[in-house]
Amino acid sequence: MATIQPGNIYIDVRNHLGNDPTNPDQCACGWYIYYSNGCGHVYEDYKHACGGTRTKSGKSGFCKSPAPRHNVQTRIAGNSPLC
Ligand SMILES: [Zn+2]
Ligand SMILES: [Zn+2]
Repeated sequence: MATIQPGNIYIDVRNHLGNDPTNPDQCACGWYIYYSNGCGHVYEDYKHACGGTRTKSGKSGFCKSPAPRHNVQTRIAGNSPLC
């Protein structure tokens, strides 16, 4: 199983984006859940927004709420931030 450094999540997530059938237009919006390879707990819920939806403040937001959640196979080196 691949292990990466925490700072590389934003790069790695691109390899794991998945069009979700529950999203409008089956976009890849959602939470991508990364687990620690140390303690095994969730390391980070990474938010990916496809850019098709904007919040009132102009930021990119999820196209559907609640957004789908995807467990990513890649592990993050070290224990989760809470441990
Ligand atoms: Zn979207
Ligand atoms: Zn932990």
